[in-house]
Amino acid sequence: MENIQNTYSELPKDFHRSTRPTPVSKPKMLSINYELANELSIDTSDEMQLLEYFSGNTVPKDAEAIAMAYAGHQFGNFVPQLGDGRAILIGEIYDKSGKLNDIQLKGSGVTAFSRQGDGRSAIGPVIREYIISEAMHAMSIPTTRALAAISTGENVYRETALKGGVLTRVSNSLIRVGTFEFFRARQDLENLRVLADFSIKRLYPNIFDQKNKYLLLFDAIARKQSILISKWMSIGFIHGVMNTDNFSISGETIDYGPCAFMEAYDPNTVFSSIDRHGRYKYSNQPKIGLWNLSCLAGCLLPIMDGDDNEKEEVIRESLENFSKDVNARINIEMTKKIVLRETKESNELIKSLLSIMHQNGADFTLTFRSLSSAIKGNDDHFLKCFDNHEEPKDWLQKWKKLLKKEKGNIDENLVENLNSINPIYIPRNHMIERAIREYQENNTHKIMDELLEVTANPFLDQKNKEDYALPAKEDEQVTQTFCGT
Ligand code: AMP
Ligand code: MG
Repeated sequence: MENIQNTYSELPKDFHRSTRPTPVSKPKMLSINYELANELSIDTSDEMQLLEYFSGNTVPKDAEAIAMAYAGHQFGNFVPQLGDGRAILIGEIYDKSGKLNDIQLKGSGVTAFSRQGDGRSAIGPVIREYIISEAMHAMSIPTTRALAAISTGENVYRETALKGGVLTRVSNSLIRVGTFEFFRARQDLENLRVLADFSIKRLYPNIFDQKNKYLLLFDAIARKQSILISKWMSIGFIHGVMNTDNFSISGETIDYGPCAFMEAYDPNTVFSSIDRHGRYKYSNQPKIGLWNLSCLAGCLLPIMDGDDNEKEEVIRESLENFSKDVNARINIEMTKKIVLRETKESNELIKSLLSIMHQNGADFTLTFRSLSSAIKGNDDHFLKCFDNHEEPKDWLQKWKKLLKKEKGNIDENLVENLNSINPIYIPRNHMIERAIREYQENNTHKIMDELLEVTANPFLDQKNKEDYALPAKEDEQVTQTFCGT
């Protein structure tokens, strides 16, 4: 990693603390993402050297390792200082497309922001984040990426002793809404401007020279989040802890903790063990997006151009636009799943499909995937997703009728369309749990490797991989997930 730099470490001292990763005794490589390493022009010929870097035992020459400062609203309550408590930004690397990427180790020891924590991560959350973030990428959902997973050879102590791990993640930018809140809470307008300018240059450079650039920054972030959340909704993804410190200004899915994919469709689904009131349930995600953006608006208002009334008016408009935009995008994403244009009729069809899926506890992923079989004349796969077949049969007829009207005829092209939009393989919770258990108990990672391989091609039917497409059996169901701490 000779091509590393760290422009964030050049920002004023309040932005970060210089921190070296704490070495670990017996690092072992679980997985390296060769494809991503190649995109970042990282030389992978010397695996021992990579193990040194990705375990944190060696910091690359010229790297300035730091922990980033940030604040955040956690479940609605403001915490003025959080920061990277178990993550260390090693530096930034250009990818082959000319974009700069942050390279961060997660679980690499105590930082100035660790508070009571040990700065470490158990291997479970490392495996989870590696698998889910790469699956998200394969489904074209904006996300941080996983570059490497390491086991440390040391235990971490949670309720029991668990194997320790370090994840190397890659992001367009690890700045969060919480980073803005950090300076806003301190009334530090000068550093707020520095942060906003840094963010613009890094992520939205074409607005740098424009008038009212901070409003434009807000709109750009809102747009990215609108795209992101609508895509989450379209694949049944529940982030689980959409605190403002986990809400990225690059519009990537960030901080995989208790996140999970919904199986039986229910808009009220919550997995996170700490989300007792369902604040971050599936159906609330667009509203929480708005809530988080309101926090960002409060940070940017004091540095925006114009008098107070004017500024408040324009930002209110931007927030209203976000609400409309995210709902419009969700409708478009959902109607795409039944290969129809977004119209009043297709929206109605989606609504009625979701309603019967909810009543029958139909698996979100398999129901949509099975529509391609119905196009080929086999309705059984679709009907099997439901306990009661009358309404689904009726629905299929209405859908086919509308398809005929819109497309002229129903042919095999639609099968390809449907299969390129509706994944067959998602990283299901019980499979991830199996992968974690395998490593924790046997030190092997066969299931992890296989899960990574299958979900790397989420739209492609793969031979002998039926198990990976199926929902959890009754005794395998995972109903609760936990933060990665
Ligand atoms: P999260 O919501 O999981 O992203 O984490 C919330 C905050 O807790 C962040 O500031 C983390 O850096 C911090 N944190 C989480 N786990 C640990 C840990 N094991 N040691 C120190 N800090 C942690
Ligand atoms: Mg976080």
